[in-house]
Amino acid sequence: MLVNQKNILDSEEALANGTWVKLICGASNQDLPGIADLCAVYATAGVHCIDVAADTAVVFAARQALDWVQAIKGIRPWLMISLSDGKDEHFRKAWFDPKQCPTNCPRPCQKICPAKAIEAIGGINSKRCYGCGRCLTTCPLGLITEQEHSIQLTDIAPLLKELRPDAVEIHTAPGRANAFQATVMELMAAKVPLKRLAVSCGLEGHGISPKELAKELWVRYSCLRKNNLKPLWQLDGRRMSGDLGIGTAKIATALWEQVRPIAPPGPLQLAGGTNAQTIKHLPDHNGPAGIAFGGIARKAIQPWVLEAQANQISLREWPEGWQAAVKEAKQLIEPWLSKTSTKQKTC
Ligand code: SF4
Ligand code: SF4
Repeated sequence: MLVNQKNILDSEEALANGTWVKLICGASNQDLPGIADLCAVYATAGVHCIDVAADTAVVFAARQALDWVQAIKGIRPWLMISLSDGKDEHFRKAWFDPKQCPTNCPRPCQKICPAKAIEAIGGINSKRCYGCGRCLTTCPLGLITEQEHSIQLTDIAPLLKELRPDAVEIHTAPGRANAFQATVMELMAAKVPLKRLAVSCGLEGHGISPKELAKELWVRYSCLRKNNLKPLWQLDGRRMSGDLGIGTAKIATALWEQVRPIAPPGPLQLAGGTNAQTIKHLPDHNGPAGIAFGGIARKAIQPWVLEAQANQISLREWPEGWQAAVKEAKQLIEPWLSKTSTKQKTC
């Protein structure tokens, strides 16, 4: 990250300092105007990394926004892309055929969607859907299904060569050490230098203990070491839930508390359920290397992003909306950027 702005540390420095902040745009989110606005707003606010779908159009939109921020502000966060080594809820989309919906349906699916991917008429806007799954059980007729949205192993190397991100994140799960290794091999085949290889994993849905999770991470660590890749451990408290309320913040911090004494070397970063409350659940003199905000970060600026889209302009072309959105973004991330340094062992 280039640094010109006061108080904004280089990405590696921020990891070492315990003040790293990442924006998660969503591993399945392909809403290009929305992504460009999110990237521009949060890069301006000072995040150290932006995590987007491994998709050519998405990366192009994100990069254009980051170029703009760099030209104006002289700062540029890392661009990270997310992959998965197997089935993962972050890599799915919901779908239904609107022709099958009764005309008098009160549309509970529409009401629950945090991405506003379901309009008052019609089906799901697949570009906007990021796979949170909340609509799946709302339909009284059971019309909504999930569809996988992941990248084939053989497509990873060519895609990486084309996208050339600063960092990659692999979403993994217990029992998938071989699939993880195969994914890393494809990354290595691309010969794209990576600043960090992030590994995202949690307990939810896997029926394992924190000790078993740590064991899984140690296996991944061994693979990364063999390939000279620097790790970044993303502990996924409760998937895609930060916008739901205070309780999810506790789940994210509890996972970190349980795993940190037994985790492999490398920075540990919170995710999955993180929100403005998260920082209040951490000890003063200790803490993780940083945090990733997803749903809560998107929700914070959603009114302005949607209004800009409705007017078919970029948020950057609407000064009042832009300023209001940057203010909201700063409100969310500044407690982390300015928190007491908690020295981390990074490798
Ligand atoms: S509720 Fe979640 S899964 Fe359903 S359409 Fe909206 S973003 Fe997609
Ligand atoms: S709840 Fe079911 S029937 Fe109603 S609009 Fe949604 S998908 Fe259609």
